[in-house]
Amino acid sequence: MMLSNDTGCLYVVATPIGNLGDITRRAVEVLSAVDLVAAEDTRHTRRLLQYLSIDRPLLSLHEHNERERMHALLERLRAGEQVALVSDAGTPLISDPGYPLVRACRAEGIRVVPVSGASALIAALSVAGLPTDRFRFEGFLPRRATARRERLQALATAPETLVFYESAHRIEESLADLCAVFGEAREAVLARELSKRHETLLDGTLGELLARVCADPDQRRGEFVLVIAGAPAEAEGDEQALRALLAVLLEELPLKQASAIAARLSGEKKNRVYRLALAMRGEE
Ligand code: SAM
Repeated sequence: MMLSNDTGCLYVVATPIGNLGDITRRAVEVLSAVDLVAAEDTRHTRRLLQYLSIDRPLLSLHEHNERERMHALLERLRAGEQVALVSDAGTPLISDPGYPLVRACRAEGIRVVPVSGASALIAALSVAGLPTDRFRFEGFLPRRATARRERLQALATAPETLVFYESAHRIEESLADLCAVFGEAREAVLARELSKRHETLLDGTLGELLARVCADPDQRRGEFVLVIAGAPAEAEGDEQALRALLAVLLEELPLKQASAIAARLSGEKKNRVYRLALAMRGEE
């Protein structure tokens, strides 16, 4: 493949999320032809390039050196070089490094070309069997429990299908928080190790998924995408009414008392109302 060599160009190249057969022919052509491959982890990408019999110079670009490396890469692109950006797996910039570089290239008028391919987000959505006409990608939930629950509280009434990335370390905790905030009955799909040997799709309610994951250590191994059904339409209206009620009560009463009264008046569970009141105090 001949790349244009009169102006610099950044190719944003997707790589497999597990199964190496998912590399595209175009990705191989571009990776073989560029002057430089900017990679999240050069050792990891070197193995991929070796597998593809490609020998190109590599430069690391990860979340800790991204800003400084960007300047060196911009210099080379300005000088007319062809650069490929890859991450460890899937599509760069999707919960992966690259955003500042792409933004800077576009601001300078340097050509940016997507070489599309695998992404765990789209792979999971395509098989979950939940609505895909509208969805909301939330990436990773916060690590800290308080921040995580606040985030979930803010999403509890979103009507779109929700998609989260999750690691083996936190899958159990996140599912437990999801049950607590969204309710155990919400429908969801847990996509594990997509395109790999132990690929598993678990579906059911959040409560059922938590039980399966707790009961079977194998279901806690590997990489996960959690796809969760959006909230039923009436939930948004209910939440707005509850927020309005809490807002008035919180002006006059301490948080605990305000949420107890709001729970009695609305018929909502006490701990859900309390968490919402806490989140509202945080938003003030
Ligand atoms: N850029 C990647 C993409 O396009 O999918 C995502 C990178 S993000 C740092 C890594 C997360 O993606 C994992 O923690 C997991 O949530 C998800 N993931 C990546 N590969 C996966 C796979 N084979 N099966 C399930 N989830 C995967």
